[in-house]
Amino acid sequence: MSFTPVASLKGKSVCAASQFDRTDIDALIELARAMKAHIESGQTIHALDGRVMTPLFYEDSSRTLSSFCAAMLRLGGQVVNFKVEGSSVNKGETLEDTVRTLDSYSDVLVLRHPKVEALAQATSVAQHPVMNAGNGSGEHPTQALLDTLTISAELGRVDGITIALIGDLKMGRTVHSLLKLLTHNFSLAKVYLVAPAGLEMPQEVLDAVAADLTQKHIALEQVHALSPAIVADCDVLYATRLQKERFPAAAAGADPVAAFQKAKEDILINKARLESAKEKMIVMHPLPRVDELSTDIDSDPRAAYFRQMKYGLFMRMAILYSVLA
Ligand code: ASP
Repeated sequence: MSFTPVASLKGKSVCAASQFDRTDIDALIELARAMKAHIESGQTIHALDGRVMTPLFYEDSSRTLSSFCAAMLRLGGQVVNFKVEGSSVNKGETLEDTVRTLDSYSDVLVLRHPKVEALAQATSVAQHPVMNAGNGSGEHPTQALLDTLTISAELGRVDGITIALIGDLKMGRTVHSLLKLLTHNFSLAKVYLVAPAGLEMPQEVLDAVAADLTQKHIALEQVHALSPAIVADCDVLYATRLQKERFPAAAAGADPVAAFQKAKEDILINKARLESAKEKMIVMHPLPRVDELSTDIDSDPRAAYFRQMKYGLFMRMAILYSVLA
């Protein structure tokens, strides 16, 4: 079976949600779903035989790292097992020199870094495409694409939905990318931004989506608590954890962090809260969850977060295939 790559991605780095238009997204979703069906029927793919990917992860990861590696392997490619710990990074090597090195051994790099600006530093020296796997509190575009695939596959549509983005919207990069990707490409009905005081969506992200909200008549409401009325109105509840590691150590007891602990009850998604939810809706979370999402809904069919992480494998296969094929 041959798959149709998304031609506009060929040889390109994946840096930000804003680089994707509706045509790209629809094509990526179609490709990811075709690959899912193929793999789940027990077949294999050899489209990237002989191609090499190197992940450069300067920050912890479970799903993004493993699903990118699994995606490359499932396409027939190979993965260089580079570990930042134990590398010359510990001897003081600059990011640029490390990128130059791994770039010279690879066809594609996957970068995760605690600093927003690291992505631009890497793409400025890399000869091969760089996949942004999370740049500090900036963006996580491949997560937004897999989130969109999840909504589309689970609900059968993305246009017309009402979604609540909940939790640490200030430092959470997944919600920055998702809000931009959805509002720019889909006619949403309404977006609720539910964040504890001090952890609201950054103004620069709100500014970036303002024109799309107006043009598409998408309603936006910012609140501090997840009320039964909001739960009842939503097709998607998208929870996120407090990004503790993004607050300076000295500010560990800082107001927003303390506010999050205090506000947890107001944003917690659990069985009791889902009582007012529609029968056909989904609960999503990029994971890891800490204590903003209760395990007491794990067996509820509306809990889509474990299926969501699986969609991640197929979306990353679609992306790598389109970039490298
Ligand atoms: N795994 C996601 C990320 O890397 C979400 C999180 O860590 O909270 O951004």
